[in-house]
Order: sequence, then C-alpha cells, then structure tokens
Amino acid sequence: MIATYHNHSSWSDGKTSFEEIYNHAKRIGVDELGISDHFCVYPDGSSPDWALGPERVDAYLEDVLSFKDREGPTVRVGLEFDWFESHQELIQPLVEAIPLDYRIGAVHHVEQEQFDMSFEYWTEKSSEERDEVWRKYWAQVTEMAASGLFDIAAHLDLPKKLGFYPEGDVSACIDEALEAIRSTDMVVELNTAGFGKRCADGYPSIDILKQCRAKEIPITLSSDGHIPEHILFEFERGLSHLKEAGYTELARFRNREIWFESLDETLARP
Ligand SMILES: [Zn+2]
Ligand SMILES: [Zn+2]
Repeated sequence: MIATYHNHSSWSDGKTSFEEIYNHAKRIGVDELGISDHFCVYPDGSSPDWALGPERVDAYLEDVLSFKDREGPTVRVGLEFDWFESHQELIQPLVEAIPLDYRIGAVHHVEQEQFDMSFEYWTEKSSEERDEVWRKYWAQVTEMAASGLFDIAAHLDLPKKLGFYPEGDVSACIDEALEAIRSTDMVVELNTAGFGKRCADGYPSIDILKQCRAKEIPITLSSDGHIPEHILFEFERGLSHLKEAGYTELARFRNREIWFESLDETLARP
C-alpha cells in the first residue's frame, strides 16, 4: 500500500494537470493519491497567482473529485493552507467551508516575507537576525497548530531549505510547537522534498522526528511533488528516517478521519 497526501498540480504551483499526476500515480502503483494544492489568502484578503483563493476552490474540487470513480488510485482531496501571523479570524471561516479529506497547515512566511525562496533573504541578515527568523517561524507553527483548524503540519524545519541553520538554541521554540501539534491531535509529515534541496535532508530532521515520536505525534510520508515524477521522490530514504526515529505506523486520512497502517506495508509490493 502506497499513500501520499502532499502533492501539487497546476491548480496552484504544480507543473501539470491533476490528470497527468493521476495517470502517472496509476502507472507506478500508488494506491491512494492525495492532492493538496496551495490555498493562500494574505492578511489583506488577496490571493497570489501561485495559489487558490476561495473563488476557485469549487472548480478545483470538481476537477479532482471527477477522478474518484476511475479505476486506479483512490483519490483524496486536501489543500495546503498558508498560515500568517494572527491569521485565525480571517482564515477559519474559509477553511471550515471547504469539504476535504485532510487539511495541511503550512508556514512559508515570517512577517509576510517568504523565507524559502531566495539566498539573499538569508545572506543579508546577521546571524542574530537569522536566529530571530527561526524563532518566529516556530512561533508561527505553534500558532497554526493551536488554531485547531488543520490535520497535518507541513514540512516542519523548512527554513533550513537553503542551508541556513540557527546558531543559537531554538530548542524551546521547537518543543512549544510540537506541544501545540500534540495537544490539537495533529499529524506531522515527513516531507522528502528537502532531500533534493541545498539542506539535503527531510523536513523535519531525524532529531525532530524523534521528538515527535516521543510525544506520540503520528506521521505521514509525502514528497510535496510539483511534477508527476516526484510523487514518490526519496520515499525509501524517508522510510528509513522514520524507522530510525522509531515510527512503526503511517497515518491515513479520509473525510478528516484518521487511521493507521504499518510502515512495513508501505512500498511493499505483492
Ligand atoms: Zn509548502
Ligand atoms: Zn506543498
């Protein structure tokens, strides 16, 4: 059984239609295919070109759900929601109006600046300022989790993507975020996209995975694919990180209900 939940189509910043992703998933033997295009509403109420806003969600759902009865992978539909500082009042009614199999909560911005797209963002900062970005990032994750709106915490540890790590100790901020995730019954994903970035590591690291495991936070495995060929990118390596962290099960979702499947079943072919 292979299930994957975090993938992008041309409904947001993915490179191909959902149909192309679906057909590729079918060819490579994916059993359960989840799509999670970006949903982004900035604090001023506008939405960027690379993401869905509320007005295009119905068409997205219609497209994806039209694959539900096809012979091939079971389709699950989700969205990756961008979280901003103090975002709850604005986003809550929008999130709750959309029927999904799972909701992914994601932090890509600190003080409305995207931190994972340019080297300059990091090189122009002193080491103290970089550490401050890291602390604010984890505070945003805490806020996102504490909102109680989401099922899966996307790519924890993302600010390391371009290779800039905190120099000071941010472990208390990480622990606070993981506590918020645990106390709102969220799941963390191991996102394998980072293996192909400058950080060359999964999001999150094995060390953070071990902390999640110690708090009994469940886990999913996804590649954050933006092209069909990346649907199962580095899944073998991801599985070995999960095993090293002590995980034995993966979380599965349908209609926002969760259940679990043995890790050893993943990638196991008949
Ligand atoms: Zn993301
Ligand atoms: Zn994503």
